Amino acid sequence: MTQPREHAVVIGGSLMGLLSARILADHFSRVTLIERDRFAETLESRPGLGQARHLHVLWSRGLEIAEQLFPGLEDELRAADVPEVRVPADMLWLTSAGWRRRFASARLLTFSRDLLDWTVRARLAKTQNLRVLAGHEVTGLLADAGAVTGVEVRERGTTGSGEPLTADLVVDATGRSSKTPAWLERLGYPAVRQTLIDPLLGYASRTYAIPSGFDPGWKALYLQADPPHGTRTGALFPQEGGRWIVSLFGVGEDYPPNEDEGFLEFAKSLRSPVLYEAIRDAEPLTSIVSYRRTANLRRHYERMPAWPRRFLVAGDALCAFNPLYGQGMTVAAKSALTLDACLRADGDLDRLARRFHRKVIKNATGPWLVATGEDLRYDTTRGAAAGVRTRILNRYVDRVQSLANVDPRVCDRFIDVLALTAPPQSLFLPEVLWRAATARPRPPTGPDDLVP
Ligand SMILES: Cc1cc2nc3c(=O)[nH]c(=O)nc-3n(C[C@H](O)[C@H](O)[C@H](O)COP(=O)(O)OP(=O)(O)OC[C@H]3O[C@@H](n4cnc5c(N)ncnc54)[C@H](O)[C@@H]3O)c2cc1C
Repeated sequence: MTQPREHAVVIGGSLMGLLSARILADHFSRVTLIERDRFAETLESRPGLGQARHLHVLWSRGLEIAEQLFPGLEDELRAADVPEVRVPADMLWLTSAGWRRRFASARLLTFSRDLLDWTVRARLAKTQNLRVLAGHEVTGLLADAGAVTGVEVRERGTTGSGEPLTADLVVDATGRSSKTPAWLERLGYPAVRQTLIDPLLGYASRTYAIPSGFDPGWKALYLQADPPHGTRTGALFPQEGGRWIVSLFGVGEDYPPNEDEGFLEFAKSLRSPVLYEAIRDAEPLTSIVSYRRTANLRRHYERMPAWPRRFLVAGDALCAFNPLYGQGMTVAAKSALTLDACLRADGDLDRLARRFHRKVIKNATGPWLVATGEDLRYDTTRGAAAGVRTRILNRYVDRVQSLANVDPRVCDRFIDVLALTAPPQSLFLPEVLWRAATARPRPPTGPDDLVP
């Protein structure tokens, strides 16, 4: 059955919301994107995107999709002076199994998160049938006879339940703090089941000016912890504007401090001094900011016994990952394509939610296993313990990881999984399995020994 596709509403103006709005504009006569923050004319941080002040890596699959939805986006980012980092050719990468040789494998454009959203938003603003309602927040859902029929929306800073805004489809893209569980309960739906696996990971980040003439033969650093005892990771990546973003991470409540001396001490305590030595005398451009809402969180909407028709939940609001592995934005981009495919495949909006949620969760399973599998290496992780299966898998991943340090083909396959261009199961293909079973990897001993 084909129903009217007059008006769609997207709640949340971060990446999932922006990409959803882009897709829906192809399928509905009008789209309204509601974001509680006000968007500034210039490139600046906003409160609803606090994570933007921390390292954000968009893997190649995510960028490919963004380019598909906004042709020319990559050129625009390059024109904004965004550096390119070949992974790991341009990096010093200390894995839990030792240093990784600097093979050429993937390419990353290392823009700040604010620049990415700003560029996408500017492109989206040119969409004729899109209205952006910034500075407004959604306070609840309107529903009738088992279907969502719109939202209640009010201007930020005002009180009350808000004005009704009717729609043929509503998408919640409000991130981890999504109120959908409470909104559904208010409509009489059962409590939403959720899985929370919390590594108690904290970030602290700061940007620095890249010292003039700095040329040590690498562009980026990634110094990983060695679980289960080592808890500290550090990363340094170049960004537009000739600066570095430095993020420090600690698992199991080993949170990096957000004052100068403690931040540097934490950097010094990483498994290699190279990051500390780079920033010790560099000029900080910002204060140090912290972030701790990093748990893996899955809301099991696909398993709800009853669900209101014409209502979807997407992005971090549906499934959020420990961000250390850089997967959330690429999963969001893939979900936008899933939304497009679902809308093209079936004209019946009443059937859309089940199909969409199932497909998105299926796509998120690989990233979920990657993130939680790593987090469960730590006894301090809350919400679950590593079972026999996870421990065996992790032992195999350790083997592949150390092989990837010295074998360019295994390195490619490993990065394909991280970059979400291949599922984790691809690490069990004969090419990798055979090498893992027979090779005796000998990781390089130090950063001077990394060029293949
Ligand atoms: C510290 C950190 C580092 C990260 N690093 C990476 C990385 O390296 N690579 C990567 O791929 N991903 C990373 N992520 C994940 C990434 O930020 C998210 O996956 C991505 O932003 C998509 O999320 P989203 O759009 O679903 O939700 P969010 O980004 O959380 O955005 C939700 C939006 O909804 C708005 N909103 C909330 N409630 C309302 C309401 N009631 N009405 C209107 N608007 C509302 C908010 O203001 C916000 O703009 C990181 C996350 C964190 C926290």
